[in-house]
Amino acid sequence: MSIVFLSLQACAQQKPVVDYDHSKNPYYSHTSQTPVTASNDFWVKILPPEVYQIAREQGTEQPFTGKYWDNHKKGIYYCAICGNPLYSSDAKFESGTGWPSFYQVLDPASVFLKADADGERTEVECKRCHSHLGHVFDDGPAPTYKRFCMDGDVLDFVPTK
Ligand SMILES: [Zn+2]
Repeated sequence: MSIVFLSLQACAQQKPVVDYDHSKNPYYSHTSQTPVTASNDFWVKILPPEVYQIAREQGTEQPFTGKYWDNHKKGIYYCAICGNPLYSSDAKFESGTGWPSFYQVLDPASVFLKADADGERTEVECKRCHSHLGHVFDDGPAPTYKRFCMDGDVLDFVPTK
């Protein structure tokens, strides 16, 4: 068991934090509510491959490897594709899954929940840019008992002062 744990730690340390230059992304804004309708032909040129694969092809990052699963700072998490504000650190909790987990969305209107293709899970999509962010489950803590299980690589964190 400890060997598995150690190898996961090693993976986490080897993987560089995914970050990209938002200046090439004309839609990126922390305040705009204008819907983003850019096509995948656009996003594939703008986003790093690992971000594109999650956001636009419903991929999932490996647990304990993405950004923020172990981030305990206070601040706001934004959609890394369009900048839409999504979660407060106040709603983040230790799920033990290796993915950043939250019990509620900052504003329920900022995400779109829909049945996954397999019909067994509920997908969480950014309502502004329609990028895939993760899934929501009914096994979270009080007060909502929801667990928004996010892929860290499609989030941007900005600490509050
Ligand atoms: Zn977005």
